[in-house]
Amino acid sequence: MTLIDPARAPSIAVVGGGIAGMSAACALVDQGARVLVFDKGRGPGGRTSTRRRDDLRFDHGAQYFTARDERFERAVARWVDAGVASPWRGRIGQVTNPGVIEEKPSARVRYVGVPGMNAVVRHLASSLGSRGEVRFGVRVTAAVLVEGRWLLKGDRNADLGTFDALIVALPAPQAAVVLNDAPGLFEQALAIPMLPCWSVMASFDRRLPVESDGIFVNMESGTGDAQLSWVARDSSKPQRPPGEAWVLHGSPGWSEANIERDPREVAEALLVAFFRAVGISAETPSTLDAHRWRFANAEPRTSEGCLFDRQRLLAACGDWANGGRVEGAYLSGVQAAECMISEMLRRAQEQPTSSRPWPR
Ligand SMILES: Cc1cc2nc3c(=O)[nH]c(=O)nc-3n(C[C@H](O)[C@H](O)[C@H](O)COP(=O)(O)OP(=O)(O)OC[C@H]3O[C@@H](n4cnc5c(N)ncnc54)[C@H](O)[C@@H]3O)c2cc1C
Repeated sequence: MTLIDPARAPSIAVVGGGIAGMSAACALVDQGARVLVFDKGRGPGGRTSTRRRDDLRFDHGAQYFTARDERFERAVARWVDAGVASPWRGRIGQVTNPGVIEEKPSARVRYVGVPGMNAVVRHLASSLGSRGEVRFGVRVTAAVLVEGRWLLKGDRNADLGTFDALIVALPAPQAAVVLNDAPGLFEQALAIPMLPCWSVMASFDRRLPVESDGIFVNMESGTGDAQLSWVARDSSKPQRPPGEAWVLHGSPGWSEANIERDPREVAEALLVAFFRAVGISAETPSTLDAHRWRFANAEPRTSEGCLFDRQRLLAACGDWANGGRVEGAYLSGVQAAECMISEMLRRAQEQPTSSRPWPR
């Protein structure tokens, strides 16, 4: 049973099809709304993307997710049942001195998407059903309020349609650009800086002599050893193709200082730092690529859940609005959808005879 009468279903645009946008879209269609998701990317995932290189796969954004909140635990259980997520039982360590890897056990289960991190968002997109649609490769450049409805604009001023309500599910600095017509939310989003991260993907012809599969790198800053924050043998995750695939993440400080550097140079620099951190001699990789995440993580984050402008039927959500990480992003999207639905129902109850389900 949906809360909204499908015959009078409002149309809602979601800008951004990462985990936050997709969880919002799913929650909205579950309650009877019609939803159109726009994402500028070529495929699903956002920062939970997976990149293919030859026969290998690299999770070059989010590495894994944990569940603390009961609602997220239930969502993860559904994804495991659906075969799109699985626990990752890799050996996790930490390095504070070059070449010395200590075990870092954790009571929390680490989950990954299978066969790649992007499987979860892909699954959410495919479960939208007939009331929802995702358009990839479409960048939204502006949202303008025209006679109480949201008109979306794309590249070359393309008209992307008009909607009763809008959910913006982008990293905060990108959200601010789209929220230009909503001063309150625009300023709040603009006030949240996000740190970059260089991500390097390297494969090797043989298994490297490193016992751990995921390693937090916490070298003292200022020593010249603080280039990395995390390295992982991606090929140790469940349902990955055979091979030796590693992902290396630059530390926030190093990534920021080197943000405009040539990707090839970055890949080589972080590879050298990797060999030194794990204490093995250099090996020539069979493939080596780098990806620049300009907006990887919010610092500091807020934990309001989402931003909501009741009057304009506008919400902004994402990891930055809810404590960070995949879990925060997912729950932020759900909360944005709940705010929107309850406001629409309130309006419908106040003016039950209106021809619009969302009277203004
Ligand atoms: C390198 C890295 C490592 C991480 N590691 C972890 C980890 O191990 N565990 C964890 O829990 N979290 C991790 N995170 C954080 C996690 O990935 C994010 O918290 C989460 O994926 C954010 O989801 P989101 O939906 O809020 O944003 P996003 O995933 O960024 O989604 C936003 C979407 O909007 C689209 N978009 C942007 N601008 C526009 C526009 N103008 N028009 C249309 N579409 C647009 C983008 O293509 C993207 O798909 C990591 C992030 C990075 C970058």
